[in-house]
Amino acid sequence: MVQTSGQHFLHIPGPSPIPDRILRAISAPIIDHRSEEFARLGRSVLAGCQTIFNTKHPVMIYPASGTGAWEAAIVNTLSPGDRVLMVETGHFAMQWRHMAEKWGIHVDLIPGDWRHPVDPNSVEARLRDDKTHAIKAVMVVHNETSIGATSAIDQIRKAMDQAHHPALLMVDTVSGLGSIEFQHDEWGVDVAVACSQKGLMMPPGLGLAAISPKAVAASQTNKMPRSFWDWSDMIKANALGFFPSTPATNLLYGLREAFTLMQEEGLPQVYARHKRLAAATRAAVRGWGLEILCLDEEAYSPVLTAVLMPEGHNADYFREVALKSFDISLGMGLSKVAGKVFRIGHLGSCNDLLLMGALAGVEMSLKVAGVPHVPAGLTAARDHLTATLSCQG
Ligand SMILES: *Cc1c(COP(=O)(O)O)cnc(C)c1O
Repeated sequence: MVQTSGQHFLHIPGPSPIPDRILRAISAPIIDHRSEEFARLGRSVLAGCQTIFNTKHPVMIYPASGTGAWEAAIVNTLSPGDRVLMVETGHFAMQWRHMAEKWGIHVDLIPGDWRHPVDPNSVEARLRDDKTHAIKAVMVVHNETSIGATSAIDQIRKAMDQAHHPALLMVDTVSGLGSIEFQHDEWGVDVAVACSQKGLMMPPGLGLAAISPKAVAASQTNKMPRSFWDWSDMIKANALGFFPSTPATNLLYGLREAFTLMQEEGLPQVYARHKRLAAATRAAVRGWGLEILCLDEEAYSPVLTAVLMPEGHNADYFREVALKSFDISLGMGLSKVAGKVFRIGHLGSCNDLLLMGALAGVEMSLKVAGVPHVPAGLTAARDHLTATLSCQG
């Protein structure tokens, strides 16, 4: 039996569900992207991006996924043969590493066990060892979506400063932006890449990048060929509210509406809501007697929770049962943790009852799939949500 009535529960950690107001905004008629009306839209979304990244400096908006913004970060700042430092937090850190290597970058990797965030001390130690300052950039993932762990970017900046190292700090906040507070200028981030389809509650299709003056300076001397991704063309056009090539106009309507929605709720409330829903999800996981993949309590992600399957049970079979039985999509385990974990997304347009519906779907699916558990997760989540109602956004 496949349920097709009612609403599909999309609880993967991106794309996240799109609010109706955003869908309606996107459906407005297309306009001339060289018109004054467009320039008002362009200026508005660019200012909105600066607000969400907490930066006074330029933000690039590409018609691309987050991966495109990654590539833009690399080709605008680095040169073939450059050395960078990365940390193996999980699947996305490794993907970014593979991309850098394809561009001829040498990646020094701090290995990880896919259960912890970035350790700032290990970054500091590596940078102190680099006496000649061969490392041109430290590239880390803010919210490692494959394991549900958030790294402390301010602490990583502190580690770099303590090592007196001049490397650029490049951050993937693809699944963090809009769900977790990001302080681009205050944390001294040089490039922060993001996308539309996660915390910003949008369809896929926009890749974002906030860039510091130091990153812009690097882009004026680096030796990587690029054309479409070139920041300088973008910065020139953006100054007037325009883009160098045809922008994804309708997605920009949607992004403007997403920023309006977030301002109406209040950004501090948006971030607090994510933390509260994440805590309720963890209460559910513990209630079921299952294990949370992330082992560092300080690093639990507000965006998603990755759950380890009991020994001998396949996470993908479980997800399939959940989809077929209750029309709920849960996130799969990626690469190294494939089949071993499933992920519950609680990002973007989510609230108490949507989360309870999703957690009910998980608890019922655990029973249907014959996964050993205690049926006490839902009550634990309920108790957490009722006890913390006053902390709600
Ligand atoms: C989703 C994600 C990406 C990839 O983004 P795309 O939009 O799929 O290209 C990169 N990094 C992290 C941390 C992600 O969650």
